[in-house]
Amino acid sequence: MNKVRTHHAIETIGLEGQQVRLAGWVARRRDHGGVTFIDLRDASGVVQVVADPAQLPIAADLRMEACIAVDGVVRPRPEGTVNNDLATGAFEVVVTIIELLSPAEPIPFMIDDRVEIDEQTRLEYRYLDLRRPRMAANLRARSKAVAAIRRTLDERGFLEIETPTLVSSTPEGARDMLVPSRLRPGAFYALPQSPQLFKQLLMISGVERYFQIARCYRDEDFRSDRQLEFTQLDLEGAFWDEESVQENIEATLVAAVRDLRGVDIPCPFPRMTWQESMDRYGVDKPDTRFGMEIVDLTDEFRASEFRGFAGVVNAGGVVRGINTGGRELARSAADALVDDAKRLGAKGLVWMVVEPDGSLRSPVAKFLSEGESSAIAERLQAKPGDVLLLVADQWRTAVSVLGALRLQLGRPSGHEELKFLWVTDFPMFEEGEGGLTFLHHPFTSPQDVAVMASSPLQALSRAYDVVVNGVELGSGSIRIHDPNVQSQVFEILGISQAEQESRFGWFLKALRYGTPPHGGFAFGIDRLVMVLQQEINIREVIPFPKTQSGFDPLTEAPTEVEPAQLQEVGLRLDVRREK
Ligand code: ASP
Repeated sequence: MNKVRTHHAIETIGLEGQQVRLAGWVARRRDHGGVTFIDLRDASGVVQVVADPAQLPIAADLRMEACIAVDGVVRPRPEGTVNNDLATGAFEVVVTIIELLSPAEPIPFMIDDRVEIDEQTRLEYRYLDLRRPRMAANLRARSKAVAAIRRTLDERGFLEIETPTLVSSTPEGARDMLVPSRLRPGAFYALPQSPQLFKQLLMISGVERYFQIARCYRDEDFRSDRQLEFTQLDLEGAFWDEESVQENIEATLVAAVRDLRGVDIPCPFPRMTWQESMDRYGVDKPDTRFGMEIVDLTDEFRASEFRGFAGVVNAGGVVRGINTGGRELARSAADALVDDAKRLGAKGLVWMVVEPDGSLRSPVAKFLSEGESSAIAERLQAKPGDVLLLVADQWRTAVSVLGALRLQLGRPSGHEELKFLWVTDFPMFEEGEGGLTFLHHPFTSPQDVAVMASSPLQALSRAYDVVVNGVELGSGSIRIHDPNVQSQVFEILGISQAEQESRFGWFLKALRYGTPPHGGFAFGIDRLVMVLQQEINIREVIPFPKTQSGFDPLTEAPTEVEPAQLQEVGLRLDVRREK
């Protein structure tokens, strides 16, 4: 008995009569009058082990999740005991030796996909949590996705290049994570929000096709699909236009979906402009798996007697509506929808139920002319029983509120079906708190420099996002390669010449040495795997994630450090950490 193991659990299939040595963990143990059954789990799966406790007393004592090796012979399971839920379920291993490789303390929770465990405990014992089949499958899926991406890009002549993770700040619109420098006390590195400027430098260096599976850091407040650190496929190419970037990204996604789901997603993905996406879905990351699209009803109300709507329209607003389909709408549910709309920023929401005779039941029905009612019904293709929702407001508010209600009422659960698409032609800038801010990042090329110079808010950018089922997977753009245009964009963003020089002087200088036109993209590996594995929470596909307050219950990071360590980097604290 020298080898630790000869076979994995899954390899026992069809090996009847053969002697095997297996090793793994006790996933379950059942004692049945003189026979002990052990489900032995290893990385490949589970196989049933049968022991006679009279011969092997250890079999009756084994604790859950103890690590063992067994020697035995594979046999087909007796008639009527085959377990079709298990890949190895037609076989079992009758063992003569059980060796305890490593005992286990009583476990804090069952290693079982069906038990609900609170997340804090799961993360504190993440090494046990990862033994659960679902989590193990997620780890495997993640590895497969990355392998598919690497293989695809390698075949297409991309170089995989690492860029530094101790950098000077890379503006992607989030807060930087800072690392104090010991050798230059008082100075700080930032952890990269993305490899953006380094990948652009690589284009200037003559690398025409670059990619990296890059760890990125953004010190933001958490949402359920965000983490302080996350992984992106980061990619860039020279002498490229939008189509070149999109075609390469599509190829990686097609390969990842094929390897994880075994299906070929249709390619090229549909393209939709930002404007169209906002008009039809009220968001810039539309979930196109279902209809319930937003319809423009503004013209119907221009001359309406209904002051509520006509007033908004005459003040430059719009009226938009959705048909949420046939559904029960109790008064309390209707009131709740109105509250939701207000919470989302609308001044109000009008609901209408289509009666069997085609007339509309609604708090505003009495204000509408017959012509208006029938126009609404017609434009929204309403059938008896349908519930219609209307918002009259400024365009952005009206579409955003209806877009959010559409998702709330219609979004399919899970991600069985996959609808990828590109959203293109984003605006360059939007109004921010202290002036204009960028929508993508400040290195994104405008479509038309002259338009940008005269009316920045009208300017469209050469940025594009890839979206799947309403999840924004990633973004990219064709970059600015002319240093003068780059300066112009900085200026519009309110970055003075002096500040440009001090923060980005090195980059503006590099742009002056024959920069090729270039563009690229980055998408979140975590998000992709989350969708493909049909997980709701991104933490399920990250091996060791932080909680939503940025805490790791396992290692207790972030932790306080010794005063001496602070001194070395020239820091003195004037805050007490809240316990
Ligand atoms: N650097 C951008 C990001 O991380 C993506 C890109 O433009 O390539 O969002």
